[in-house]
Amino acid sequence: MSKKYWDEKFETMPENQMKAFQVEKLKETLQWVYDRIPFYKRAFDERKLKPQDFQKLEDLAKFPFTVKTDLRDNYPFGLCAVPISEVVRIHASSGTTGKPITGPYTQDDLEQWTECMARGLWAQEVRPDSILQNAYGMGLFTGGLGFLQGAMRVGCAVVPSGAGMTERQIMLIQDFGTTALCCTPSYCLTIIEKAENMGVDLKASSLKTGHFGAEPWTVEMRDEIERRGGIHAYEHYGLTELMGPGVSFTCEHYNIHINEDHVYPEIIDPDTLEPVDLGQEGELVFTAVQRRAMPMIRYRTRDICTLRREKCACGRTLVTMDKILGRSDDMMIISGVNVFPSQIESVLMEFGELEPIYQIRLGKKGYIDSITVETEGKPALYASGKEKIAELAKQISAKIQAVIGIHVPVSILDQGAIERSIGKAKRVIDERPK
Ligand code: ADP
Ligand code: ZN
Repeated sequence: MSKKYWDEKFETMPENQMKAFQVEKLKETLQWVYDRIPFYKRAFDERKLKPQDFQKLEDLAKFPFTVKTDLRDNYPFGLCAVPISEVVRIHASSGTTGKPITGPYTQDDLEQWTECMARGLWAQEVRPDSILQNAYGMGLFTGGLGFLQGAMRVGCAVVPSGAGMTERQIMLIQDFGTTALCCTPSYCLTIIEKAENMGVDLKASSLKTGHFGAEPWTVEMRDEIERRGGIHAYEHYGLTELMGPGVSFTCEHYNIHINEDHVYPEIIDPDTLEPVDLGQEGELVFTAVQRRAMPMIRYRTRDICTLRREKCACGRTLVTMDKILGRSDDMMIISGVNVFPSQIESVLMEFGELEPIYQIRLGKKGYIDSITVETEGKPALYASGKEKIAELAKQISAKIQAVIGIHVPVSILDQGAIERSIGKAKRVIDERPK
């Protein structure tokens, strides 16, 4: 019988031992950045803080946050703590605007990242006899190579298919007997839809598991992927600033465990910046526990989430996080109500007549912000006639109003009108004049 955990020691470490481990490593990391990165030295000095002021985990709250603009201001290597001769890889995330965020790694950082990925994939049924098709974008984006490294560490056969060329993805699944598919959840839906159109039944294929991440997706979306793809849909979460994917992963009970021996999580109130308790929603903040090239201290992810420390039946003691509600940047304020795209997604997914594809269009009518949700029906819907379609759109709109409390018009567009995603889906199209 193969082992249950990839790294039993850390995955099942009692909480007090984990905390002691984190304290020891964080002491070293705070000293490391203070001695080597002028940005942190200045930030600590301004608050009259020395690395020695950190003696217990609660002390971390005294230390300053790091934000995305700090990375941009110090582009490309201003926050790198080691000389380039010790850097063996540099990734970058596109970000939305301006210069990218760089992610340099030492050999040891890469090793840590690979282990974090292997842990997740192992928890998700990937074994040496698996054939894993990696349809994340390969390149600067951390997803592609992160999954490649972790899967190779586990020892399975990796097919680095990359993102796109959807028909070929389906051919490879069939010809190679792919058992595990890695990509964004929205790209998996693109693959499923294309397979259905080609008359290929993925449910009857060799595919058993999906390893999805890099963008928010709801539980309802996950259910749809599992049903239509005939797979168990697992999740990974991460960001370039911390290591890429590998920050956390779901176990067989769908709990998202954080690799807290590598990334120390906090939740803060994004307005007051005060820490909030377990079980309360807020912004995820991470501190690198043992990275060396670019260890982030109290990095504000802008991802809205909740942390929990409840016993998981998988036996892992690693703290868990809820599914990400969304990025705070994606939060829309409509008629004074805060709305995340994921809340609209949850409602749309209740309607079996719809394809799980949508976009939210924001505009301006005079001085007033307007919002429209655009989606598409499944093929059968279009056969039912224009009136039925219009009636359904009204029902959806009413359901959205019942759930989030505001009126949002819904348009069901022609089949194929919304661009299919091959990577991170673009859910919000903001057409408001700047
Ligand atoms: P970019 O900012 O260009 O998207 P990254 O590729 O580093 O850069 O993306 C990291 C972000 O992707 C996270 O901060 C989060 O918003 C999102 N993300 C990654 N994994 C997940 C996930 N499983 N669920 C929700 N959001 C995710
Ligand atoms: Zn678990």
